[in-house]
Amino acid sequence: MGVPTLFVRFGGCDYRCSWCDSLYAVLPEYRDTWEKLEPGAILDRLFALAEPPSWVTLSGGNPALFDLTDLILEGQLHGYKFALETQGSIHKPWFRHLDHLTVSPKPPSSGNVTTPRETLLALCAAGTATTIAATTETPARVSVTRPPSTVKIVVFDEDDYRYAQAIRDLVPAIAFDPPLEFCLSVGNARPSQGEDPDPAALMDRYRWLIDRALADGWHDARITPQLHVLLYGNRRGV
Ligand code: SF4
Repeated sequence: MGVPTLFVRFGGCDYRCSWCDSLYAVLPEYRDTWEKLEPGAILDRLFALAEPPSWVTLSGGNPALFDLTDLILEGQLHGYKFALETQGSIHKPWFRHLDHLTVSPKPPSSGNVTTPRETLLALCAAGTATTIAATTETPARVSVTRPPSTVKIVVFDEDDYRYAQAIRDLVPAIAFDPPLEFCLSVGNARPSQGEDPDPAALMDRYRWLIDRALADGWHDARITPQLHVLLYGNRRGV
């Protein structure tokens, strides 16, 4: 949060979340607005926006539907750093080339629940223990070396909070190196209705989430608002 980044959105998603804020990158009826670009053409667009070194966030839709190896490796040669945001339902070997991985499993309020196991497998795909984790139903304690990674869970209500707890409780089965960061983020309920959110209501939910985690003794999670929503509402291109 607070670090400028270039966003590359990839069209298509295997989920249909009730509160998705980027349906223009998800639903087939927007396909006419998408462009098919080779890695070199994407890099040309990035150069036009910001010279390296800067962060490039690969988002969607679900970018894990694609093979982004060439884009990442070529971009890194030019000095860009690549972060991925994905829900974790699909994991790919190229995750290990990333400079940062955020797995954002979807909680019950979304209508598409990512299982805790899918979440762990996506995190492990960026590291060296994929095979071990993928063949283990309940992971034994395995060691995973990988790019810095974050689990970010959007929380709207008590059910979502309990879902986040369940994922947190599974993580100690894996010895992540460097340590995994856990982030709880306040949900923005209105984007699919095309309305801007009410900042006061968002801050109320933010205070509820902080109080809920502190009352629970959960002190090692980063608890954040969606800063871009507070600043820009649901505007695109910011
Ligand atoms: S996973 Fe993300 S991009 Fe896909 S529908 Fe859900 S919120 Fe939207």
